Amino acid sequence: MNPLVTKVETFIVTVPRDTPYLGPLGPGERVNARGYVVRKGNGTIYPSLDRSVAVRVTCADGSEGWGETYGICAPRATCEIINDLLAPELIGRNPEDVERIWDDLYGLMRVRGCNSGFHVDAITALDIALWDLRARAHGLPLWQMLGSRQRERVPGYLSGLPASTLEGRVEMARRFREQGHDAFKIHAVISSEGIVEEVAALREALGDDALLMADLHWKFSADEALALIEQLAPYRLHFVEAPVKPEDVAGLAWLSAHSPTPIAAGEEWYTEYEVRLRLSQQSVRFIQPEMGHTGITQFLRINALAEADGVQTAPHATIGTGLFLAASLHASVTVPGLWRHEWQHSVFARALELLDTDMAYADRSYRLPGGPGLGVRPGQRFWDYAEPLS
Ligand code: MG
Repeated sequence: MNPLVTKVETFIVTVPRDTPYLGPLGPGERVNARGYVVRKGNGTIYPSLDRSVAVRVTCADGSEGWGETYGICAPRATCEIINDLLAPELIGRNPEDVERIWDDLYGLMRVRGCNSGFHVDAITALDIALWDLRARAHGLPLWQMLGSRQRERVPGYLSGLPASTLEGRVEMARRFREQGHDAFKIHAVISSEGIVEEVAALREALGDDALLMADLHWKFSADEALALIEQLAPYRLHFVEAPVKPEDVAGLAWLSAHSPTPIAAGEEWYTEYEVRLRLSQQSVRFIQPEMGHTGITQFLRINALAEADGVQTAPHATIGTGLFLAASLHASVTVPGLWRHEWQHSVFARALELLDTDMAYADRSYRLPGGPGLGVRPGQRFWDYAEPLS
């Protein structure tokens, strides 16, 4: 009999930043009274600090599992859902039943419209911790619980060029290219110089054989996106990401059918249910599950759907302490249809400082953390920045 869950703890981890995520403030942008910035390019709110929600789940034998979810905005909301709603239902359960536990916790609130967003984020943190516990109980690295190893390392692509001018971004791209990086994704809508100008300048700087992708941050109608993608066609983008609003399911499918460039999307899709709806309409050629939203259970189910439809997986990487990124890497080595995993260099370097881990990025690929379970544990700096909530 495996030991059962006896305790759940939540932590908000807040790490100061000199320059906000996505680069210095642009014209008309300001940090508000709660420390958030609304980016003019896409109208989305971001914290000026890095923030995340981590959980520690403890079992009767004292074994501990760690999990993490997306916590950059209103992290107390996620902690409250865990502490008030989910933890009491998790205590007494067996980590061996992690997939069934996901279904049970999701089922608690599915009829109340809580089938995505904060509620599923809260489940995600627990799901990763339970998988960590389960793998540790078996004495195995997490990936070995998830499937067959398809590759030794996880190939990556460089994401984000955080400089305030196009000139600065071109210079940064050139430096990375000289270091051997061969695939670059840019936050095109953040550019105040213009999207086409941005892509043209980077293609020129990077040369013909580098892969270039543009993230459009859900900004356009399907018609507008198609017109823009046609303008960008001479620069041979490998994919265009998140071209239309998340709610525009029909528009994404229409665009994918007409676009000369492959469409990528999915960092905001939490569950197999959201994904099935899109894939049934051939909406994307690349799917981008974000482990901080999906957890391991949904990441695997989403990938199974993508696999069946011949859609390539390009996992998303976002701000976190590195705990859910480690989970994403473990899952990614088992995904047959993996393209490449996003590498947000500025975010990854900061995460490594928080953890005790041998996880690394070199030679255009991630090295998986070694050891049982996730293979990562909070380090001293994590604890310096962690605030427990109950
Ligand atoms: Mg994106």
